[in-house]
Amino acid sequence: MMPQMHNDPASNAVAGCGPLIPPLSDSLRPLRQQIFERVRAAGMIARVQVAKDLAVSPASVTMGVSELIEAGLIEEVAATREGEASRGRPAVALGVRAEAHRVAGIKLSDREHTAVIVDFAGNLIANEVVERKPLAMTLPQMLAAMENLLDKVCAKAGIGRKELSGLGLGLPGFVDQQSGTVLWSSVMMDRNVGLAAIAGAHLGIPVHVDNDANLVTLAELWFGVGRRLSDFAVVTIEHGVGMGLVVNHRIYRGAHGLGMELGHTKVQLDGALCRCGQRGCLEAYVADYALAREATTALNWMGKDGQSINILLESLYDHAKAGNASARSIFRRAGRYLAVGLSNVVNLFDPSLIILSGERMRFDYLYAADTLAEMENLAIATGRPRPPIEIHAWGDMLWAQGAAALALSALTEDLMAAGRDSASREVAAQ
Ligand SMILES: [Zn+2]
Repeated sequence: MMPQMHNDPASNAVAGCGPLIPPLSDSLRPLRQQIFERVRAAGMIARVQVAKDLAVSPASVTMGVSELIEAGLIEEVAATREGEASRGRPAVALGVRAEAHRVAGIKLSDREHTAVIVDFAGNLIANEVVERKPLAMTLPQMLAAMENLLDKVCAKAGIGRKELSGLGLGLPGFVDQQSGTVLWSSVMMDRNVGLAAIAGAHLGIPVHVDNDANLVTLAELWFGVGRRLSDFAVVTIEHGVGMGLVVNHRIYRGAHGLGMELGHTKVQLDGALCRCGQRGCLEAYVADYALAREATTALNWMGKDGQSINILLESLYDHAKAGNASARSIFRRAGRYLAVGLSNVVNLFDPSLIILSGERMRFDYLYAADTLAEMENLAIATGRPRPPIEIHAWGDMLWAQGAAALALSALTEDLMAAGRDSASREVAAQ
């Protein structure tokens, strides 16, 4: 018997078959946008090379380029050709007009807030860090913190806040990037806040919000090794365990913008209590607070209440380094759970690379040779080598740069959409 279909077979001719939504393909993007993105990715590139790379005629590239130059988004730059520098006219290449726009990126976290300002070509202009106490903020407190940090970093860059074309904002927790809503964050008291719209109105510039793990993934995609990879995963370990996944050069966000909560995948039924209220989450074994919880009980550090988690962890690290068996076993156990989490990532997604991002000290213990061996055992044996794992301990500034990439990417879409509108109006007017 034929399996039951949703459609009446008789109506198939009308309903058609195959996915109704056309696949997202770069070739469907307007040529002008493809040219711009090619120039931005190359840094400096000749027109003829753009045409070759995009497999279009030099004439259509010339047309697209004139529009982009007229719009002030790219410019001609003198490129010195090897051996020809001294004779004749210098070759002309294309580059993004760096001063056309400036955007800011901010990362809010439990320990500190970081901010960067980058120009339209992605060059870092200024950065700033503000230490803070790890307490959840009310919305007004959060807006004030953002404003204060933004004004500081703008002062460093020598520009006014209104000169920014956008702000990318990253924070830990569950964030619906599309709608700009923060459903829950450890740095925020309120839940379900339309932060992008509220912060945008407060600061007077367009604001885009995302989960901090996605931002570190964006930073790798825009500025790091991820530029050359189509499919890779980033696992972040600090206060929580986060993950970003790039599929076909794009961040995968899930149907509701909430995908990739690796920290809350279960590694133990009825296991340790997690911050999210459930039990047995990976985060409840690997994150800062999990290590601190173990340390306070196993090492009888109950009297040290009130000291920061960071100091406690550093002390735990020192004890482990000095050979303290309890301290070592805490890291060893966390490392084994991390191995479970990483092997699940390998088994599910087959990434070409896994980047571990966070603070160096933790990885000395969490990601030791034992962890690697354990992971090897837990990943399915295909006979092929498992994906390489790289540790990038670049700190919070990297996250803020990812936030700036979010703003740049949104700005680019806006600028190109604006161009599209005027182009279609011209066509309509003819
Ligand atoms: Zn959880």
